[in-house]
Amino acid sequence: MLRPARFRVFLRELSALVEREADEYVLLSQARSVVTELVAHDDWLPPDYQQPDPNRYQQYLLYCDPQERFSVVSFVWGPGQSTPVHNHETWGVIGILSGAEISQRFRLSEGALTADGPPVILHAGDVETLSPTTGDIHQVRNGLETEPSVTIHVYGADIGSVCRSIFATDGTRRPFISRYAYCPLPNFWLADEN
Ligand code: FE
Repeated sequence: MLRPARFRVFLRELSALVEREADEYVLLSQARSVVTELVAHDDWLPPDYQQPDPNRYQQYLLYCDPQERFSVVSFVWGPGQSTPVHNHETWGVIGILSGAEISQRFRLSEGALTADGPPVILHAGDVETLSPTTGDIHQVRNGLETEPSVTIHVYGADIGSVCRSIFATDGTRRPFISRYAYCPLPNFWLADEN
């Protein structure tokens, strides 16, 4: 049985949070708890939003706040799929719904891109946060070799329309707008539970 009500509760809590909290540090720590609750169960996201594509990872928009204070995206990773090295220009919270995701952080030092610590592997139920204030350049890939993974990403803007950057290894950047994959079931969370 699909339980879209979990997503409605999540949207209500996140909307209230961005309404009351202007401080990014506090907002991120509370958003982490709200996303942790959401990814504690994997019974609420319709299968249409979990479909991998053989050519590239998919980014399905699940919800965008009408005032664009946040957006929620399901990332679906096929085996071996990976992002380029990129930034976000806004805060982010990543929760793993199923499978695993590997994140490698980078920093720019003297114009070049350097790994910032070892790669981190997140498993189902795990959550991490990102902030441009503390450095949000990273590369993300499927943590499973042969199976798809599904991860829920929340950002402090309509992330698909934000002009951000992709980085080459020599530190040069080029503009990047991610957009979204085709949205199969708009407003699925309004469906009755069955
Ligand atoms: Fe990212």
